[in-house]
Amino acid sequence: MTEIPQASTTLWCERAVLPTGAVERVLLEVAGGRLVAVQQVDRAPAGAERLGGWTVPGFVDTHVHGGGGHDYATLDAAEATAARDFHRRHGTTSSLASLVTAELDTLVAQIRALSPLVRRGELAGLHLEGPFLSPARKGAHTEVLLRPPTEEAVDRLLEAADGTLAMVTIAPELPGALDAIGRLARAGVVVAVGHTDGDQTDVRRALDAGASVATHLFNAMRPIHQREPGPVPVLLDDERVMVELIADGFHLHPDVVRMAVAAAGLDRVALVTDAMVATGMPDGGYTLGGLAVAVRRGEARLVGPDGEPGSIAGSTLTMATGFAFLVGTGMSIPGASWLAASTPARRHGLDGVGVLEPGGYADLCVVDGSGRLQRVMQRGSWVPDVEEPR
Ligand SMILES: [Zn+2]
Repeated sequence: MTEIPQASTTLWCERAVLPTGAVERVLLEVAGGRLVAVQQVDRAPAGAERLGGWTVPGFVDTHVHGGGGHDYATLDAAEATAARDFHRRHGTTSSLASLVTAELDTLVAQIRALSPLVRRGELAGLHLEGPFLSPARKGAHTEVLLRPPTEEAVDRLLEAADGTLAMVTIAPELPGALDAIGRLARAGVVVAVGHTDGDQTDVRRALDAGASVATHLFNAMRPIHQREPGPVPVLLDDERVMVELIADGFHLHPDVVRMAVAAAGLDRVALVTDAMVATGMPDGGYTLGGLAVAVRRGEARLVGPDGEPGSIAGSTLTMATGFAFLVGTGMSIPGASWLAASTPARRHGLDGVGVLEPGGYADLCVVDGSGRLQRVMQRGSWVPDVEEPR
């Protein structure tokens, strides 16, 4: 990490979310960027810093394209670091970097630019959301660049990433998709089902081949119909799957968020932002993967050929705003912490993050009783200029 962790810090938390659930009066000892002790202690010892509200694991965002005017789809590592820093001020202490559909040559170049950040621990891995997507459910991806996941294409991306690829989203009905899913899963890459026009059978086959995540469940896939259920019921039902939800109140109605969490359970749902470059920026014109996007009242949509708003083009959500939104739907703070940190960290095999326990990184967020972000610590250092959720 770029920051040098403080030598040692003692924090005394009014309430903390530990792996066992909510615990009152918790002492956290931090040294070398890690938690070295976590215990229930009734009184704050002298010299301990007292934290009011709730102390929860630092947020883990596994689907995010950029923010603060900065894009992960870049050949400039400093641009990616700026996007990462923006989201850190909104509570994200571990992040994948998601890349949208592009020419294979471009993706290979972007992967090579970002891989060193993954090796240095500044990003938790790379996510390719494309180019192996369905033209019928392309959302904000460039149609002419979509392609089936051939062995050559998959191998080229795996080789360029050299161990830094964390996740690939695939539409399982594409030719060669089931072989590609198996190939990626065997290489240790999480495979997500998404941007798919497939039905329940296509999705079941994908899960049997090794897929284990649903890319923004409900969005960019067939809706539920009582006689043609499509992907959603299978993905909510199958224990092998973690489903991503974009909980911004725009992509998904709060009732749908509640239903999905009730169906899948807290250990199978991840809060993701799917945030794009305009996150935290004023309304106006932006681009996503080379496509023109207009942001109005924080809602990002493609600009159609007639100038009218088209498909939803990512979000302007932060993890802090998503966390507060979940709490606003009636979810408990420990529940929201599972979705925002523990579940995505565990399902992606991210060691030492997503839980407050001895040996783990000192990555934490302090939120108030409404789930609104107050402070962020990453690797034992307080993050400056933390921003209130909107
Ligand atoms: Zn996305």
